[in-house]
Amino acid sequence: MSKGKINVSVENIFPLIKKFLYSDHEIFLRELISNATDATSKLKHLSSIGENKIKIDNPIIEVKVDKKGKKLHIIDQGIGMSSDEVKKYINQVAFSGAEEFLEKYKDSAKDSGIIGHFGLGFYSAFMVAEKVEIKTKSYKDDSAAHWVCDGSPEYSLTKCDKKDRGTEIILHIDKDSKEFLEESRIRTLLTKYNKFMPVPIKFGTKEITKKEGKGKNEKEIKETVDDIINNPNPAWTKTPSDLDENSYKEFYRELYPMQFEEPLFNIHLNVDYPFNLTGILYFPKISNDINVQKDKIQLYQNQVFVTDNVEGIVPEFLTLLRGVIDSPDIPLNVSRSYLQADGAVKKISNYITRKVGDKLNSLFKKDRKEFEKKWNDIKVVIEYGMLSEEKFYEKAQKFALYPTVNDEFLTFEELKEKVSKNQTDKDGKIVVLYASNKNEQHPYIETAKEKGYEVLLLDSPIISHLIQKIETSNDKITFSRVDADVVDNLIKKENEEISKLDDKEKEKLKSIIEKNVPKEKYTVQLEAMDSSAAPFVITFPEFMRRMKEMQQSGGNSMFGNMPEMYNLIINVNNPISSEILKSKSKDKKQRLINQSLDLAKLSQNLLKGEELTSFIKRSISFIK
Ligand code: ADP
Repeated sequence: MSKGKINVSVENIFPLIKKFLYSDHEIFLRELISNATDATSKLKHLSSIGENKIKIDNPIIEVKVDKKGKKLHIIDQGIGMSSDEVKKYINQVAFSGAEEFLEKYKDSAKDSGIIGHFGLGFYSAFMVAEKVEIKTKSYKDDSAAHWVCDGSPEYSLTKCDKKDRGTEIILHIDKDSKEFLEESRIRTLLTKYNKFMPVPIKFGTKEITKKEGKGKNEKEIKETVDDIINNPNPAWTKTPSDLDENSYKEFYRELYPMQFEEPLFNIHLNVDYPFNLTGILYFPKISNDINVQKDKIQLYQNQVFVTDNVEGIVPEFLTLLRGVIDSPDIPLNVSRSYLQADGAVKKISNYITRKVGDKLNSLFKKDRKEFEKKWNDIKVVIEYGMLSEEKFYEKAQKFALYPTVNDEFLTFEELKEKVSKNQTDKDGKIVVLYASNKNEQHPYIETAKEKGYEVLLLDSPIISHLIQKIETSNDKITFSRVDADVVDNLIKKENEEISKLDDKEKEKLKSIIEKNVPKEKYTVQLEAMDSSAAPFVITFPEFMRRMKEMQQSGGNSMFGNMPEMYNLIINVNNPISSEILKSKSKDKKQRLINQSLDLAKLSQNLLKGEELTSFIKRSISFIK
């Protein structure tokens, strides 16, 4: 028997650790199982290079809860330790690791962006245990060692009669940590952190039913087997050529058991130079509500779960995807701001962006029809990426699609080609018309279509930002929503109508209307349009609308409190306009103006509440 004092400069390091790591106590189990896994892998390695003559057949790790005895056992069949090794690795290495941790933690504690995981290792056992025992037997056939430490820096080390090779860690759970004596709690933790660790982890047993015999003799028999928590060979650790479409989908279900919708496609990541990274990313169907869909990618290190917050490691726009990234090269004991500045991490992030771009491009090239079908489910990610990553923007020129209201999907080049002939403004710029809502802007879409214009349907929440970016990068192109004022010019230029009123009459009509509609809301303009077109049309200045939209989806707040201003366009050729001009009755003038204005508002979706009710009542009385 030997007794000693652990060589640490910080007296009573245990209470300190407990206090510091309060919210993260649960990681002790992950740390201890990681050690057990390492010990098993080392043994397998020794055996593979022929150094170790002991037969190993599928070693496992076992976790056992002893609620009565208030103990938790973690048992491995790995390499084990001799008593000298315990002195060296546990008393010195493990404890110096703890000290180092405290040193690090002191500085980073100020930064609230810490990733809440530290390679604290063996030492983290003391976050939940008042006493820890190690029973261990080395593969080298030394006698087994028994180490006990009660949380003070004192320990005892004796011989013991452990027969099997490997290490058993026994935690005497302290009274503040009773939750870790609950089987369900431990099961949850094992599933969270160890679901894909490379060594099978047994937690209790379970009963399965098996079929035996054939035909008439077939019968079901019940059998008790080890309950293995994990899948030691998850899909991302395999080579893509060994996996088919189905295995990827199966793995998706394993990752997200509660997710019933299938992913649209996946990207297998695999690099070993200049950094190590494997993983599988999935494109799910993405709706317009971006925020609820983040934080679904899981980060692993050598198959140990670390976090599901990959901010800073994966470019922001790809946090909408799902799946797994496994890399030992991502520093974890650091703050997020450090992570973003780290060169290796930047490379990882660029690599992932490039791979996603390549995959999208190859899907587009391989089967354009399929890609078009998926477009509306993935466009938010792509548009988001085009906005935020310059490299991705360039790459996406080839596969980003611009759907029309007639469900045609055009690439940017095809779009330019199509509209460059008859959709130009007075400065010779190409004007791309788009609608954001087919129902709400229906009358405007129809008018534009009648004139032979192409109308896109662009309805993602960030589209106004993307349009702005496209315009900045192409000075020969401008976008305009179908109901915007720009369209008036375009339509007028293309279809010059002769005015049925002379200048004097027009002047008079304008002043009548200006007197009868709220000045602060409408700028009255007269246009000669087809006589069958609506008498009044409301348009919204393109510039102002876009600024408002951008402000709503995050961005410039300068225009947030801008008053609502509209253009009110009077079609001088509609017979109602002449009637307004010629009618002697003031009441009738007012009525004609109100009704025409309400109709114009109705097609812009601006007629609401009381106004809408009185409009309906009025209209009914007309029918009568
Ligand atoms: P780390 O794992 O980061 O090296 P730890 O504090 O977790 O630090 O462990 C210190 C050392 O103790 C390990 O490097 C290993 O040599 C030894 N050790 C810990 N757990 C086991 C185990 N279950 N079997 C064999 N050796 C172990």
